Amino acid sequence: MTFEQLQLISPILKALAKENYKQPTPIQEQAIPSVLAGRDLFGCAQTGTGKTAAFLLPIIQLLSTQRDPAKGKRPIRSLILTPTRELAIQISDNLKSYGRFTNLRSAVIVGGVSQKAQEQALEEGLDILIATPGRLIDLMNQGFADLSRVQILVLDEADRMLDMGFIHDMRRIIAKLPVKRQTLFFSATMPPEITSLVDSLLTNPLKIEITPVSSTAERIKQSLYFVDKPNKLPLLIDLLQDQSITSALVFTRTKHGADRLVSGLMKAKITAQAIHGNKSQNARQTALKNFKSGATRLLVATDIAARGIDIDELSHVINYNLPNIPETYVHRIGRTGRAGLSGVAISFCEYEEIPYLKDIEKLTKQKIPVIGDHSYPMVITEPVPAKPEKGRAGGAASKNNARVHSGGADRSGSAGKEGSTAVSGNHRRRSKKAGK
Ligand code: AMP
Repeated sequence: MTFEQLQLISPILKALAKENYKQPTPIQEQAIPSVLAGRDLFGCAQTGTGKTAAFLLPIIQLLSTQRDPAKGKRPIRSLILTPTRELAIQISDNLKSYGRFTNLRSAVIVGGVSQKAQEQALEEGLDILIATPGRLIDLMNQGFADLSRVQILVLDEADRMLDMGFIHDMRRIIAKLPVKRQTLFFSATMPPEITSLVDSLLTNPLKIEITPVSSTAERIKQSLYFVDKPNKLPLLIDLLQDQSITSALVFTRTKHGADRLVSGLMKAKITAQAIHGNKSQNARQTALKNFKSGATRLLVATDIAARGIDIDELSHVINYNLPNIPETYVHRIGRTGRAGLSGVAISFCEYEEIPYLKDIEKLTKQKIPVIGDHSYPMVITEPVPAKPEKGRAGGAASKNNARVHSGGADRSGSAGKEGSTAVSGNHRRRSKKAGK
């Protein structure tokens, strides 16, 4: 299948050639004809599937081929609602690229920056508005944003918008749109609230489901290192001697952890910057820009900050901490190996994260191949059993309550027998002499 076969107009085809997109991704192949035909769409797809172009390309085509609206200020004809500033800016960047040979006008309306330029863009008139719900509501309340002529509504990462508590803002915004419109709805997950929102907003939608959340892409090469917490930084520095790791997104559990890791890496003369909620909008944009340009080799992020960040050609994802929600692992590693490229996902697992590993492997129905032969094998600790919190590791393996064995991670790639992750209900770990 080619983009030409999707009946896209030549200004779009020209722009796609410039982007070096050779062929549509599965979601684009399925969504584009149907959106062009005016149908509602429900896409269950996460970032990395090409979903942004799946909605932007037909929107650009539909709006740029309509007869010019009557003279005067351009009315907003498409509204794209998205949960975060980063995502809004990315969509806008994509829109500018794909629409570069059309004369459509667009603007981004997000919080955390001055409102003035946004007011001005709305005053001047535009065709496509990309917005986060909070700031849009503010501008609507002040009479700046008129949504009465919107023909196409996009709700991107709707599950995330619900998570972030935007449901009321979303409903208030949608109430101001014409009832007769086309709605394109995207969500990576399908909790019951999403199902009911879909039922209330969409009419006979085309449903497309891409890569269920439990499956990890085969093209991503995964590996696992058992390592004690204090040795994670030295191990990372060691692995980074491999120059094929050109641009890696590193995930930490906490913001503080991200900052600490960055300062440790900088001391080792490895360029890294952190991106998380405590950083200002400017600092986050700069970090992202430096990473994209290759000025920094590592971007260290928490899950919330990283979600939705669109980075092309990410060679590696590194889980410095394993996530306690197994689906998050799938999302994280899906950041590499995008749009047909192969990718590498490296995970570190400290003693207390072993239960998370078990959850991940249960979800993905795969064992992550273990690299047993490395410089900092885990020195096995065996904490005094404690009541585990649901989904979390049991008692902390502190010096006082931990028994220390010699040896390291002993699970082989074909884990399951002697070498499998040996964690019982109380997270006690079988010891076995280390492979090293
Ligand atoms: P998305 O899922 O929209 O976040 O897109 C993921 C990445 O894939 C983005 O970096 C896009 O630039 C890229 N992409 C989208 N569609 C294609 C395509 N047909 N061919 C190559 N890359 C694409």
